[in-house]
Amino acid sequence: MALHDSGPVAVLIEELTRLPSIGRKTAQRVAFYLLKVPEDQANRLADAIRAVRAGVRPCGVCSILTHEDPCALCADPLRQDDLLCVVEESLDVGAIDRTARFSGRYHVLGGALSPLDGIGPDELNLAQLLNRVKEGVIREVIVATNPTVEGEATAAYIARLIKPLGVTVSRIATGIPVGGDLEYADEVTMARSLEGRREL
Ligand code: ZN
Repeated sequence: MALHDSGPVAVLIEELTRLPSIGRKTAQRVAFYLLKVPEDQANRLADAIRAVRAGVRPCGVCSILTHEDPCALCADPLRQDDLLCVVEESLDVGAIDRTARFSGRYHVLGGALSPLDGIGPDELNLAQLLNRVKEGVIREVIVATNPTVEGEATAAYIARLIKPLGVTVSRIATGIPVGGDLEYADEVTMARSLEGRREL
């Protein structure tokens, strides 16, 4: 039996294989790399994983994953309160914020509507979104969900939910490739799709 067929190395490889974009070969390479580096380097990685799990929670206002509550974006007094950008995941906030073309607030849904996967309106942070809009300060909601079937369905749902409240609902332009992921959009594409948004 080879070293990595059982025991702690096998467990580590198994856990690494569960990570996104990590295949079996990469998992093996990472596992054996961690065995070779100084022990404190490997321990720092383990501690960092433990620390994010213990200290990072969704922001009570916008649901972005953060170690502060409210998060730095919600607490920033310089941001516009009347403009709200709705995204699927916390990572998407980074993609939009890097453009430096948006100075409003954010709202993270925690995914997109996907009935086949059992993700309905109740599984997303839609009630919180509605409550924020009902406070009466928000003038426009920009829906920046991914340009996928699920992202478009979610955008249409949000428009139906919010437009009756007299708030403008707009959708980012399709500069992002269809089926693409906001997270990977370059800053110029992202800035253009924000500027070219259309009303829903
Ligand atoms: Zn927040």
